[in-house]
Amino acid sequence: MLETLRRLVQEVNQARNLEQALSIITHSVKAVMNVGVCSVYLRDSDGAFILMATDGLNEKAVGKVRLQEGEGLVSLVAARAEPINLRSALAHPKYHYFPETGEESYHAFLGVPIIHHRKVVGVLVVQDHAAQSFNEESETFMITVAAQLAGAIAHAEVSGDIVGSKGAKNVLPDSRPIVGLPGASGVAIGTARVVYPLADISAVPDRQIEDISAELDKFEKALSAVRQELRIMSQRLEDKLPSQEHALFDAYILMLESDSITDGIRTGIKKGNWAAGALREVILEHEQVFREMEDSYMRERGDDVRDLGRRILMHLQQDTPADTDFSDNTILVSEEVTPSMLADMPMDRIAGVISVRGSRTSHVAILARALGLPTVMGAADLPVRYIDSREVIVDGYSGRVYISPSETVRREYQGLLDQEQELSEELQSLKGLPSETIDGEKIHLYVNTGLLADMSPTQESGAEGIGLYRTEFPFMIRQRFPGEEEQRIIYRQVLKSFAPDPVVLRTLDVGGDKALPYFPIDEENPFLGWRGIRITLDHPEIFLVQIRAMLRASIGLNNLNILLPMISDVSELTDTLSLIHQAYGELLEEGEDIEMPRVGVMIEVPSAVYQAGSLARRVDYLSIGTNDLTQYLLAVDRNNARVAELYDSLHPAVIRAMMQVVESARVYGKPVSVCGEMAGDPAAAILLVGMGIESLSMSVASLPRIKWVVRNLTRERANEILSTVMVMEDVQSIRAYLYEQLEQAGLGGLVRAGK
Ligand code: PEP
Ligand code: MG
Repeated sequence: MLETLRRLVQEVNQARNLEQALSIITHSVKAVMNVGVCSVYLRDSDGAFILMATDGLNEKAVGKVRLQEGEGLVSLVAARAEPINLRSALAHPKYHYFPETGEESYHAFLGVPIIHHRKVVGVLVVQDHAAQSFNEESETFMITVAAQLAGAIAHAEVSGDIVGSKGAKNVLPDSRPIVGLPGASGVAIGTARVVYPLADISAVPDRQIEDISAELDKFEKALSAVRQELRIMSQRLEDKLPSQEHALFDAYILMLESDSITDGIRTGIKKGNWAAGALREVILEHEQVFREMEDSYMRERGDDVRDLGRRILMHLQQDTPADTDFSDNTILVSEEVTPSMLADMPMDRIAGVISVRGSRTSHVAILARALGLPTVMGAADLPVRYIDSREVIVDGYSGRVYISPSETVRREYQGLLDQEQELSEELQSLKGLPSETIDGEKIHLYVNTGLLADMSPTQESGAEGIGLYRTEFPFMIRQRFPGEEEQRIIYRQVLKSFAPDPVVLRTLDVGGDKALPYFPIDEENPFLGWRGIRITLDHPEIFLVQIRAMLRASIGLNNLNILLPMISDVSELTDTLSLIHQAYGELLEEGEDIEMPRVGVMIEVPSAVYQAGSLARRVDYLSIGTNDLTQYLLAVDRNNARVAELYDSLHPAVIRAMMQVVESARVYGKPVSVCGEMAGDPAAAILLVGMGIESLSMSVASLPRIKWVVRNLTRERANEILSTVMVMEDVQSIRAYLYEQLEQAGLGGLVRAGK
């Protein structure tokens, strides 16, 4: 059963459009369950259920049978959002008979809801002649199938609209954008460029080409190179392999000669697809055919087809110059955009980013924000394979993506984009103005850096210093731990570029989602594991080198602030402080003239919230890391798109925790700053000012926006807003209320598209 299910899901995931996906489902389920009928009904935009595919009922009824909301058993399954298993459907008062289906001879009925993102999007039904209910095993199998297929159906639906299941319907209805998660605010209109891991044939996108004969030539060249390669391999291993294994090479060569593969690819190219896309299409199709075979030997030949495909792909890629033809407004699209992928792009050409995986606090989203690139993360339904070269709109405020938008939507977004540009020019003019409230309260604004972004935009932003320099990035881009002098040079550059303004260097915070290639950590639960200070305390040799490098970098500048990540216990802090004092003492002994830096603790773990007072009295300042604090308080993985809707730093629990930190630190007269992404959220900034937090550190692109909020606020009003929020019980009301406050103050353009 499990194997059948796995295969079914895989086939549906590969389907080119909805029609194909549904046909695979109905045929397979009917066969596996050995029943008379399997059908799928999908909900349309009016809430009615349409018979979309059937194996068993009259095919002519497909697309014609339409059950209004509340009509028939199918609607009942949807309304209850649970299975209905009937001995005889015909006897049920809700049974609605459609003569065109020919279903009057089927008594037994089992309908299960297909639920995607909490919404019933369809109903999967099986029917059989005999009047007897389905057993529990059948019911649970159907539930499992429906649960596994909901996402795949949604995906196939979008792909189908794009590719055009029949004819030239290749525009998504504007009313149905793809909804992901806001990654970095802003709006971008541009041309999609799909970037994919080179070795992965199933990730290759379709791409339109102009010069068909050149593309055919390229393919023929790759083909003969592979043929040649196989012959050489075959000869080399002739006497080393038993004949049976050796025959594999002949089989490969035969496959290469087989017209069904090579002609299929040529046909794809002639239709205007590039060779790599046509290759993917044919190879996956053939692989599928093998995988569906009952014989296990034949099933494994699927791997050979894929291997062959990979070889041809490699040659095609060698023959294709690296992607350099980026159009001016390129929207970078990938299954999983990574920080290094983004850093590799020609920045002046990139207008926006879309990633199928990840969420707002993934490090790539943080980087995109630093670069001011509108970004949508977690766009799970995006048909990546089919959108290369298409026009797309990225709305980084709402997390929406429009593919090949209609003229109306395009015009609307162009208008919003123009307003955004006006807004950003207005914001630029704030650069030289102080960051203070209307009633003269100073709010210090700093930037977060250390990601691959360079320093220059940071210095031009009008920031008063660096509030968080993530030192792990210089560690990540090397093949080994950087030495003391190497680190000193990097830190010196950072400290110097802002001196005499303060710079906060955070000690190494690896583990969790940040791995060092040369120091692998393999854990079941990395965010609750060996991470941040836990690692460096276990490896004082790494920690002491880093502290010595920081201290030596600060000589004569004296603007160094050290920040300690992931402290969850007072003893961790005392141990860390003694290591810092040890390094400081050693350097003094060595004759260096160094001032003791300020040392602070990040509050990013719930236990640190409750011990904020004990921590505060031992250090010079606290800095709240809201990215991790939110993840740990709400038990929501910051990188997991599936639970991203639950991840919001405006959650009442997070706000209360932060209030507690501020109050505890106040007892010891220690300042509190915020350096998580929350500091750059215009709605949240009002609350932070209300809490009495005087330093905020954020991505460089957020800085002018937050300054605008600060300059339009009085301390008194911020306090009132905070008091109102403190009695609210859910995050949705809090966010809606704060957005309303921004709109009323004329600052709505900060949290939605437009001005
Ligand atoms: C945080 O957790 O809020 C933080 C600023 O650190 P990072 O995002 O690097 O974990
Ligand atoms: Mg953190």
